[in-house]
Amino acid sequence: MEVLPLLLNTFIIILSIFFYQIVCLDKDRPERTNRWFLLLFSTVAMVMCMAFPIHLFSGHIFDLRYVPILLCYLYGGHRNLLYISIAYLAFRSLLGGEGMVTSVIVYAIVFPLMIIFGPFRPAQRKLKRVLHGTALTVVWALIAVLFSNLRAGREDLLFNWFPIYLILVTTCTMAMSLFILEGICEKMKLRKEVERAEKMYLVGELAASFAHEIRNPLTVVSGFLQLMEKNQIAEEAKPDYLRVMITELERAQAIISDYLAIAKPKTDSIQLIQVEPLLRQIIELMSPYALMNTVSIASSIEQGLQLKADASRLSQSLINIVKNGIEAMPDGGTLEIKAHRKQSKLLIEISDQGVGMTPAEIDRLGTPFYTTKEKGTGIGTMVALGIIGSLGGRTEVHSEKGAGTTFAIILPLQSDSISE
Ligand code: ADP
Ligand code: MG
Repeated sequence: MEVLPLLLNTFIIILSIFFYQIVCLDKDRPERTNRWFLLLFSTVAMVMCMAFPIHLFSGHIFDLRYVPILLCYLYGGHRNLLYISIAYLAFRSLLGGEGMVTSVIVYAIVFPLMIIFGPFRPAQRKLKRVLHGTALTVVWALIAVLFSNLRAGREDLLFNWFPIYLILVTTCTMAMSLFILEGICEKMKLRKEVERAEKMYLVGELAASFAHEIRNPLTVVSGFLQLMEKNQIAEEAKPDYLRVMITELERAQAIISDYLAIAKPKTDSIQLIQVEPLLRQIIELMSPYALMNTVSIASSIEQGLQLKADASRLSQSLINIVKNGIEAMPDGGTLEIKAHRKQSKLLIEISDQGVGMTPAEIDRLGTPFYTTKEKGTGIGTMVALGIIGSLGGRTEVHSEKGAGTTFAIILPLQSDSISE
């Protein structure tokens, strides 16, 4: 057996898996876009495998085309199978040669088998997936060798070196690919889990300041109602009192809906976001917490800027940074939030006049569980930087011990943002 083409085939498959990881899994693209990329990478891998086949000394030729086709189907579903099948049959006819009819017959037998086995189900466990995918590969390889030996008129259909090589090599490559892909998916799931946990923690941390804000309107309303009950309010003053009560209750309602906005489960939907209203909403949301820490928030935000992102995740990351800024000023101060366009990018600056950090501390920023606070988690910054990175942005930190810190967040702007 020629070793070089075999290595090349395996290399092509592994390379396409890594490209898929870089392009899709690390970013937060919608599921549908990921499926298209999966189709693209699998098709390229399949074509490349078929273009560089492995020659055995027995005269047989084979390649690892089944691996990308199966991966495309197992992870991408029925529609992907349909498209890659068309691509496969088209490319196979283009190559021509004696084996074409056999290839088509084998595919016609394997196709319904794939449908019966089905693609991976979301809840399927790692081991089951590996077994499911490997079993399909073995079945396919067996049918392929059987037919190819039949065509060659060999009597020892399954009992020669060709089936052993083909089945062994294809199955091993498939199992290895599944392990790599499952490992990558597991890591992604873990990252999302950490993000979710941090959000719940954030909600808990902010709860005290919100509760405090809601208690004030409730105290006012209940005081007025008690006065009314005892008939201590003049008839003509009642409309005024009612107005005050309604305003106070509306304020409480607004605070609760703000609170629910961050507690809400993640929707994971990329949409066009207006920067200014989003930042105003965050400032409003964080002002009870700032007030509790005697911090005032100043802002200067350019209007009309927009970007594409998941609003709830972007807010979570900004809230984490704003919250750290507030916490860095135990004796109070001003937190400044600026946002403007800078060379076709969006620059958001969040500056505090707090304790600041040494260069060594800045270096450790964003590493899991690094915290200098008694009740800190050391996750907030990591999650915030992770989200910004996944949106194609980056973060620069400027800090001076004892003077304050500025987080500069640079994000890609949507091109149709209104220019000045
Ligand atoms: P936590 O806030 O729970 O400690 P974070 O990941 O949010 O966790 O922050 C990690 C550490 O980074 C903080 O404990 C703090 O020492 C430092 N840090 C983050 N932001 C600032 C800031 N604006 N000023 C000073 N130190 C900061
Ligand atoms: Mg924090």
